[in-house]
Amino acid sequence: MRIPFLNLAQQIADQKNVLTAAFEQVLQQGPLVGGAFVKNFETKFADYFHVPHCISTGNGTDSLFAALKMLGIGAGHEVITPAWSWISTAETITLTGAKPVFADVDPQTYTLSVDEVAKKITRHTKAIMAVHLYGQCCNMTMLNELARQHNLFVIEDGAQAHGAQHQGQWAGTMGTVGSFSFYPTKNLGALGDAGCLITHNPTLAEQLRRFVNHGGLSKDDHSMEGMNSRMDALQAAVLTYRIDQLNNGNKRRQAIAGLYSESLATQHGLILPTTAANNTHVVHLYVIRTQQRRHVQQKLADAGIETLIHYPCALPFEPAYAYLKHSANEFPVAAQLQHEVLSLPCHPYLSDAEVAYICESIKKI
Ligand SMILES: *Cc1c(COP(=O)(O)O)cnc(C)c1O
Repeated sequence: MRIPFLNLAQQIADQKNVLTAAFEQVLQQGPLVGGAFVKNFETKFADYFHVPHCISTGNGTDSLFAALKMLGIGAGHEVITPAWSWISTAETITLTGAKPVFADVDPQTYTLSVDEVAKKITRHTKAIMAVHLYGQCCNMTMLNELARQHNLFVIEDGAQAHGAQHQGQWAGTMGTVGSFSFYPTKNLGALGDAGCLITHNPTLAEQLRRFVNHGGLSKDDHSMEGMNSRMDALQAAVLTYRIDQLNNGNKRRQAIAGLYSESLATQHGLILPTTAANNTHVVHLYVIRTQQRRHVQQKLADAGIETLIHYPCALPFEPAYAYLKHSANEFPVAAQLQHEVLSLPCHPYLSDAEVAYICESIKKI
């Protein structure tokens, strides 16, 4: 048996007729960037999450950057961001001229530890970057409370959490602004780069819309400087179709996680993922922990099973942040996770038989 980590080719093959028809429509009607197809997707995405404003962008990293810029964050400011995350959530802070201040994550959920965030707040702090990692929300109730006390913005990074919930509220709708990526491997993925932002705030929505389009709402409108980060109509057409699959895709991911967790529950030396009370996990990644990671990954590879590591190096220890001179004892959880995490295949096209084979292979190891 050969089990790749993801099977995007099968998803594309399955959807070929619908996607081809959608492309035909875009190619005939245009325009290729922005326009009716993009507007249509923005409306559908906003409706899905019951928010008034969705602003499409070129990718999820640009979404985060635009959010930070339009909240006025720049030189002299600090933004608290998890030590355990994808680099976008730190690099976009630096790009604004502000300083990324890393906070360690919770040892159970791997999302921001509220206590650690509280310790890092100074008079320069302007915002908290709340990353809903692996498909599970941060403790937004407590982060929002902390932000309210200290007058901070909360930027939610929902790039791994389309459809996740905390206390019955959608990821991306609880903070000041929610950011999403539609990179092909995400729970809602395009056929290339794409992203968006959602917010309840109409003024912020207009500023974001201007910022990602050279400062204007139309071609020759430049009320300010901005950037070029817009969604292609072809991607919007793909996403408009695929958003209808999101629910079922997430349900299948949850079912697979259930199978893994049941089958592997009694294995010594393995730590399985946990979901915090009041959270609905959409299992973007099913991440186990083992102190014998190299051995387990090699044996699984020998059995034809592809696994990945999210992430091999915690952000404070990346060469890119060497200038901050961080040490492992400042972020004990992230420092440990980087040696232990292993992501098992988990996607809507994985069969029960494949999950069973993966579990059996792990038990043999
Ligand atoms: C994928 C991802 C991003 C960035 O999205 P891109 O569209 O690839 O720029 C940001 N944050 C997290 C947590 C991600 O997983």
